[in-house]
Amino acid sequence: MDFQLSPELRDLQERTRRFIADEILPLEKELPRDAHGPTDALRQDLVARARAAGLLTPHASREMGGLGLSHVGKAVVFEEAGYSWLGPVALNIHAPDEGNIHLLEEVATPAQKERWLRPQVAGHTRSCFAMTEPDGAGADPSMLRTTAVRDGDEFVITGRKWFITGAEGAHYVIVMARMEEGSATMFLADMASPGIRLERQMDTMDACFTGGHAVMAFDALRVPADSVLGEVGQGFRYAQVRLAPARLTHCMRWLGQARRAHDIALDYARRRTGFGKPLAEHEGVGFMLADNDIDLHTARLHIWHTAWLMDQGAKGNFESSRAKVVCSEAQWRVVDRCVQILGGQGVTAETPVMRIFMDLRAFRIYDGPSEVHRWSMARRLVRQAGAAE
Ligand SMILES: Cc1cc2nc3c(=O)[nH]c(=O)nc-3n(C[C@H](O)[C@H](O)[C@H](O)COP(=O)(O)OP(=O)(O)OC[C@H]3O[C@@H](n4cnc5c(N)ncnc54)[C@H](O)[C@@H]3O)c2cc1C
Repeated sequence: MDFQLSPELRDLQERTRRFIADEILPLEKELPRDAHGPTDALRQDLVARARAAGLLTPHASREMGGLGLSHVGKAVVFEEAGYSWLGPVALNIHAPDEGNIHLLEEVATPAQKERWLRPQVAGHTRSCFAMTEPDGAGADPSMLRTTAVRDGDEFVITGRKWFITGAEGAHYVIVMARMEEGSATMFLADMASPGIRLERQMDTMDACFTGGHAVMAFDALRVPADSVLGEVGQGFRYAQVRLAPARLTHCMRWLGQARRAHDIALDYARRRTGFGKPLAEHEGVGFMLADNDIDLHTARLHIWHTAWLMDQGAKGNFESSRAKVVCSEAQWRVVDRCVQILGGQGVTAETPVMRIFMDLRAFRIYDGPSEVHRWSMARRLVRQAGAAE
């Protein structure tokens, strides 16, 4: 493994760090979020700033208008952007758009790319990804109940989805549906289509995703045959194409937020005194700071290693599962310790740490709960051990 960063990547890291420090952090206080996340107007303002700084959608291919970052490149830039909760919004690298952009790059037809992907890479549009269902697919996606039935040159999609991040205000949706013979297919659909209905916004602990999380209904939505993303029947495979890197990019962005919380707690522990000396000099607090550093470093190593493997052509399903468990749990411990170090202020909006704590919690659940990743890793370990006998 060679973790030497090229001069170009170092330059991009530095430019991203400066952009976040100079342009984005000062906005955090000025532009508070609403109950569900940044408004679309705020998003447009942030995207315009990243565009002017030459940092917009850096993970997209150069052909589509991005900077063509490798997975290791993403690890470096996304952590820097994640230092502010507004950074990933500005750079157009937040979920679910980041993962959808990756998926379209991999499997969409040239015509689909021109219609859906190019304007999204340019920051003009947003998207959502609809898989989870109130009464079907969840941690176990094979329980998918939304159906797609062929009718001449069209498909008719019927079902309900929930937790759909960014649905409100999105321009298009990638919806996963079950075919009559049991396989799954992904479809692209314009969110303004008559068969799509947003039932309601869900009230959640987090408030960092533009458009929040919605319950949506597909009321016999009719889509033409060229709306199939990739090939009919490949939905579950494409879900892995999307999710393996997408869960790793969550790790990258949240690493930035966890580092931010740590910096705030470290600063407080150095300045605040109690019992005759700075808090940081009390062993109980010092050990929490040291444990934070250990967790942050461990998370970064897992991210970089998995990203490096993916850059060598590995699918990285097992490694990204492992990284997701390590990172989501390590980052959670870091932010929880930061709340503790800050005392009463930790549970108030006096510092950004309370919001980071609330925004981060769901990461141990979405893109696969920790238990499901451990369970699927264990299955593979047992299978491999059996095969080696
Ligand atoms: C903030 C947020 C944003 C989301 N965004 C999207 C989105 O944009 N699009 C989308 O399609 N979905 C989205 N989701 C849904 C998310 O992917 C699901 O919540 C997740 O897959 C878990 O499914 P579930 O909620 O149905 O939990 P369930 O399937 O009901 O599982 C509940 C719990 O059971 C346990 N469990 C389940 N299976 C096992 C097992 N095999 N072994 C041990 N324990 C197990 C786990 O602890 C799990 O947390 C989002 C969720 C959240 C919270």
